Amino acid sequence: MTRNHQQPEVNIGLVGHVDHGKTTLVEALSGSWTDQHSEEMKRGISIRLGYADATFRRFPDRDAPECYTVAETDENGVESEPLRTVSFVDAPGHETLMATMLSGASLMDGAVLVVSATETVPQAQTQEHLMALDSIGIDNIVIAQNKVDLVDADRARRNYEEIQEFVSGTVAEGAPVVPVSAGQEANLDILIQAIEEEIPTPERDPDSDARLHVARSFDINRPGTHADELLGGVLGGSLVAGEMNVGDELELRPGREVEHGGETEWQPIATDIRSLQAGGESAETVTPGGLLGVGTGLDPSLTKGDGLAGQIAGPPGSLPPTREDFTMDVSLLDRIVGEDEAIEPVSTGEPLMLTVGTATTVGAVTSAREDECEVSLKRPVCAAEGTQIAINRRVGARWRLIGIGTLTG
Ligand code: GDP
Ligand code: MG
Repeated sequence: MTRNHQQPEVNIGLVGHVDHGKTTLVEALSGSWTDQHSEEMKRGISIRLGYADATFRRFPDRDAPECYTVAETDENGVESEPLRTVSFVDAPGHETLMATMLSGASLMDGAVLVVSATETVPQAQTQEHLMALDSIGIDNIVIAQNKVDLVDADRARRNYEEIQEFVSGTVAEGAPVVPVSAGQEANLDILIQAIEEEIPTPERDPDSDARLHVARSFDINRPGTHADELLGGVLGGSLVAGEMNVGDELELRPGREVEHGGETEWQPIATDIRSLQAGGESAETVTPGGLLGVGTGLDPSLTKGDGLAGQIAGPPGSLPPTREDFTMDVSLLDRIVGEDEAIEPVSTGEPLMLTVGTATTVGAVTSAREDECEVSLKRPVCAAEGTQIAINRRVGARWRLIGIGTLTG
């Protein structure tokens, strides 16, 4: 197993149909098991996004692709050199959890689409996830044609052609298709090479204000801890811009709902950073990439049980406005994945489930035009103009993705 000495510098989504081998691939590349979150174990399926870091390395005395590895030494004891640490976001494959996948996708710099060679292409979530990547505009994609150990050469070739045909005309057209066996750890060197070439670390502006998208929040104190010894609330999330340092002041929006004079109002929360964790290690300073743990001075009752999930944190006064309603440009999909019916335009009065960054909120449409609508939210969000929003409509008993919105004001 590889130990990670570096903070991850790029987030790579693992997407694709359930059982095609996403979690096994992450395991093979990182030595950690994303399904082991206790909550996921309970539900039996990756409902929460799981993050796992992998350090890609190279053997200096070998040519590509054989030089690429995640091992620190080879069988002869020759040491490899680290190239970079990446963070894999293992998206849930369950079809009703598209919004979770999309909220994670807003934090992805690129994606590995895992397609099993043992089934016809496309399976439902292969299609749904590719459509999401297409809608959000994530075009740094590598396709892992997995489980090639289970098929003969002929079947592998036909499956390869099906994949090429399926991605043609989409954001994944021209993406490398790498035959692998995650289970047998075969061809992982070629896959790493493809990821190194296709999914570069984005350039970050070191001077921009810190923006932490809060995906989880926790109370890490054991029950019964004496008040004097309580540790402050912890935020888990992804930094998408700037840097954060221990000691920095922090503001969270929308914050919390407070009552005064019979009225309720959302007020930002102020705190400071007490500790930082990145790539599983404590740090004084962190930059974008991977899942961060941010220890704060917050009352842990506020952060308990994901109480602050969906919020945005940054330097006081720098955050976008909190919105109880907004206008968005709407771009509808042609049809709901797996259904034949066309998608009807958004209509005034209908409820929509909106995923905005890591926040999910229900909004009522107060005014709808051809390709624009206004929504009034049950629970406000903190979002800048230009933010992309996944729009879901209730169809039968389920929320289905119908389009992507862009916040205009
Ligand atoms: P996920 O739902 O996409 O995360 O899929 P998993 O990683 O949980 O894999 C589903 C099943 O396929 C598990 O039983 C894995 O052991 C198996 N599997 C994954 N990759 C391979 C592979 O390359 N070869 C074989 N033979 N089995 C695999
Ligand atoms: Mg999985």
